[in-house]
Amino acid sequence: MSAIKFDLEIITSHTVANTTGLGRGNVGAISLRNYVIAIDSTIYAKTAQIFRTNLEEHFNLPVKFIILTHYHADHIFGIGPFKDIVSFCSEQMLENMQSSSIKQTYEQRVKDLLKEDPLAEGIVFELPNIAFNNKLIIRDEDLYIEAIHLGGHTSGSSIVHFPHEKVLFAGDLIFANMFPYAGDATCDPELYIKAIEIMKEMKPEIVIPGHGKILKGYKTLDEYINFFKKVRMIIKDAINNEIPPEKIELPTQYEIFNEELKRLTVNHWYNFYKKGL
Ligand SMILES: [Zn+2]
Repeated sequence: MSAIKFDLEIITSHTVANTTGLGRGNVGAISLRNYVIAIDSTIYAKTAQIFRTNLEEHFNLPVKFIILTHYHADHIFGIGPFKDIVSFCSEQMLENMQSSSIKQTYEQRVKDLLKEDPLAEGIVFELPNIAFNNKLIIRDEDLYIEAIHLGGHTSGSSIVHFPHEKVLFAGDLIFANMFPYAGDATCDPELYIKAIEIMKEMKPEIVIPGHGKILKGYKTLDEYINFFKKVRMIIKDAINNEIPPEKIELPTQYEIFNEELKRLTVNHWYNFYKKGL
């Protein structure tokens, strides 16, 4: 069997990521003085295991914690190789994962993937150990990270910020240069836009998205704020003019990686704003 390649991209002296898409969702990590904190686990245990091994080799430090940004399969199913360490998520994310509909759907998805996808061996749907409300700070000597619950993409979505190097891990609040998936049942379009505005106010120099390549400079976030505001306006206009969701034309600046996810996004925003009218 050929070995899977899942290399680290070195971002700064304390931060790394893998944004190749080989693990579906992007992953990242921050090294503090005595240990490393991983962010998200990819969809596969195989890529997660390589990721962890690479982290420990690159930083020559143990991985002590993992923070999960939200409950989507492509960010959490690979948690297996991190089971011996403490995992964190927002309290809302834990609630999402415990809701019977999500639990059922995701447990089924694990079973289906194990049957269909040769890479899926070892994937699990497993609850994180510790949940935080609003904000989690982890300190190690002079360095610290903050995980902040913002909601938006899902109601439990969080970001991870490393102020020392002005690096921000955005999870799926940013899909870099591609049409974003914003059609989760718990997605709140207003909070989505607000979350990106909050990230911009934090003035990060580097933003690691949940999907797509790394963004440089907080001003690049304007593009995503403007895109979502445009989408919001078009959808509200369509509702006012009684145009059905399937006839709505959205800005075409981004590549659509999955037509079905785009359709779910449009429908979700349509129903969200229709209720509000
Ligand atoms: Zn997601």
